Formats: sequence, C-alpha cells, structure tokens
Amino acid sequence: MIPLGDNGTVEQAVVNVNGVISDSASAVVSVFDHGFLYGEGIYETVRTYNHRPFLLDRHLHRLRASADMLGLTIPPTDEALANAITATTDRVTFQTERYIRLLVTRGVGDLSYDPTSCATPTIVIIVKPHRENDAAVTTDGIRIMLSSVIRNHPDAINPRIKSNNLLNSALAMQEAMRAGASEALMRNHRGELSECAQSNFFLVRHGIAHTPPLDAGLLEGITRNFVFEIAKVAGIPVSETVLRAEDLHSADEMFLTSTTREILPVTRLDDHVVGTGAAGPITRALASAFHKQARTLSGL
Ligand code: PMP
Repeated sequence: MIPLGDNGTVEQAVVNVNGVISDSASAVVSVFDHGFLYGEGIYETVRTYNHRPFLLDRHLHRLRASADMLGLTIPPTDEALANAITATTDRVTFQTERYIRLLVTRGVGDLSYDPTSCATPTIVIIVKPHRENDAAVTTDGIRIMLSSVIRNHPDAINPRIKSNNLLNSALAMQEAMRAGASEALMRNHRGELSECAQSNFFLVRHGIAHTPPLDAGLLEGITRNFVFEIAKVAGIPVSETVLRAEDLHSADEMFLTSTTREILPVTRLDDHVVGTGAAGPITRALASAFHKQARTLSGL
C-alpha cells in the first residue's frame, strides 16, 4: 500500500527560502514563523510535464485566493513567483519531471496571533523529483477507505483554503493507512461525500461522472476543473451532484483527481470491489484525454 502523495525521498530536493536557494539539508525556516507556530500559511503543489510547470497560472491564482481567505498578502507578482520557481528548478541535478511545492506563510513574528507583528511573509519553494503513478496502479486502481474523520466545517477552516494546516487530512490519512488504504474519502458535517484527504472524488454511474459540488466543502481542484474541460471535449457528461455513502454501492466506476496523481482509478472501497475491479471505460477515456491535452499544452 502506497499512501497517495508519497513522492519519494526529499534528499534530492532543492529549496528556495525567501530567495536563498540551497540543498534540502541546509534549508531553514525560523521557529518564530507563524506558519510553524499557528499553521498560518497556504501552499500549492505543481508538477511539470516536459519540465514546464503545468497550469501554473491557475495554481498562482488559487494561491492568492487562499491567501485572501487568511487575510495574507503575497507581495511578489505572479511573474516574480514564476521566475523564483524557474531559478529553483534550474538548480536541480535530476532529469525526471519535477514536483514543485510553493508555500507562503505569515512570516516571522511575536508569540501572538497579531498578524501585524509579522513584517513579511515567508516564501518557500521545494523542488524534488516527481514520482509518476505506477503502471499497475493506472490499470488496477487503488483501494480507498470511507473515513470516520469528517472534513472541516467550512465555517471553521474552509476546505477551499489550500492551507498548510493539514491536521484534518493527516488524521484521515493515518486512519486510512492503518486500514491498508491509499486514500481517505471524507464526508462533510451533513454526511454528504466531500472529497478525499489529498484529492477530489468522482464516481461514474450509467455513463455520467458525478463529483460533489463545491458547496459540499472541498478544495476546488485544478485537476477537477481540468477534467470538466476535457470531459466536454471527449463527450463524457460530468455533473456536480450531492452524493452520499449509499451512492457508493451503485457506482460503476470511481476515480480520484489531483495534480500529482492525475486521474487515478479506485477499484476497492473498504472491502468492496468497485465495478469490475479494474479501471473502467469512462475513467480510462478521461485519463487518456487528460494525458493527450497535458502533453499538447506542455509542447510534447
Ligand atoms: N483536495 C485536497 C484536499 C487536496 O489536497 C488536493 C491536492 N492538492 C486536491 C483536492 C486536488 O487538487 P489539485 O487537482 O489542484 O491538485
């Protein structure tokens, strides 16, 4: 069982902390950073195709939207952030595609919740090798669990904020890993399905791909939105539908979406086999359309 999001070791990582680029062992952030003290920060995970950051403009747009919800201003322009990413990726010595994590925290301040004690945000860019999905997983799919941990209530910590405060996901993933599952499917406070700990969730029924609406309390995934676009081109209907645990039993297929895992079939839910137990036709069609479009947009 590989927990989703396991991207291999960090030894080869190159890290940029406020413009200072170093190897993974030398990168440091102050213990007085409010990101460390209070979990006050936001992030984006980007991957490259053809060594080019994929859909970077959308990621930077969401980063600023997350920052806004924290009352955090990110001083550099998008162009400056993109240049900082390039300066960091230019320093790697590996040849594989890159995993890029861009983090912005409130910055260093007093031991107080007062944000005005933090003069400037801390900006960190981590670049490390991207681990592609195993070939077997893309055909055989993964096993996920229906978690007992519910997604944060939107009036507590809104799941639309891509926050560095990841305890809600960490607790759900711990439970999933104990059960031998790779991902945790989470419900919201109303008992509706929302999303997984690290990805968005889709189920296919009678040829239609359904995914919970944003109102269910979930991250507006870049890949989720991209799937809406490619599905339209591929002629596959997609619907934002309120889903409940009962709907899982009548699903013909299930899949997850995320930047690093792309479109990943789910073939086991707890002890139940989903559909035929292998990646279904709609999932495969969408994954193939996804790859085609990702390659085209990346100049491949
Ligand atoms: N939901 C959560 C909670 C996530 O952590 C992720 C991964 N970033 C996603 C959904 C998928 O988002 P994206 O497609 O933008 O990577």
